[in-house]
Amino acid sequence: MKIVLASSNKHKVQEINDIVQTLGLNIEFILPPENFDPIENGTTFEENSYIKAYEAWKLSKTWVLADDSGLCIDALGGKPGIYSARYAETPALRIERVLKEMENKEDRNAHFTCSMTLINPDGEIAYKYQGICEGSIIKEARGVNGFGYDPIFLVKGDTKTMAELSEDEKNQISHRSVALRHVLEYLQKITR
Ligand code: IMP
Repeated sequence: MKIVLASSNKHKVQEINDIVQTLGLNIEFILPPENFDPIENGTTFEENSYIKAYEAWKLSKTWVLADDSGLCIDALGGKPGIYSARYAETPALRIERVLKEMENKEDRNAHFTCSMTLINPDGEIAYKYQGICEGSIIKEARGVNGFGYDPIFLVKGDTKTMAELSEDEKNQISHRSVALRHVLEYLQKITR
């Protein structure tokens, strides 16, 4: 079964394909057409995920999966949230901004969220799920794996940041893998 993955973030595509592979499923995620350029003007992860999924469906008229994800920090009222990818110009500057804003905060609790929307070939929402990964924001970046805010996100119940986990370890617990597992369970049920 081929599913268009409504994302141009190669790291995410890789992560998702790795998870599918370890589960041994007969699903191939393919990239959207080159003119895929959604305007992510929703106010929630769920809305943005749907916007991306529907844009990709309009171009492909087949099964589409979209995800929208980001980091939500309690002490910052949920920020950077849906602005995670745009919080500053580069990944390093985005981390710098978060660390600065968190300088005097005692409450370091945060979570990653990933909202997934699966659209069927008729353009209808077939399934959606929001995956969460709990943790906290440390004071100095640590680790070189992963991407985005991984180096400053300490995974709950662990001594490692997300960027100190191996790809396999991250894929066991990440917000994206939680959401994807639910989507894949749904797909297995309807293709059985
Ligand atoms: P999206 O591509 O619109 O879903 O935006 C996601 C943004 O949230 C990314 O550019 C990262 O800054 C951040 N993000 C989402 N997932 C992760 C993750 O697993 N690790 C680190 N940062 C993430």
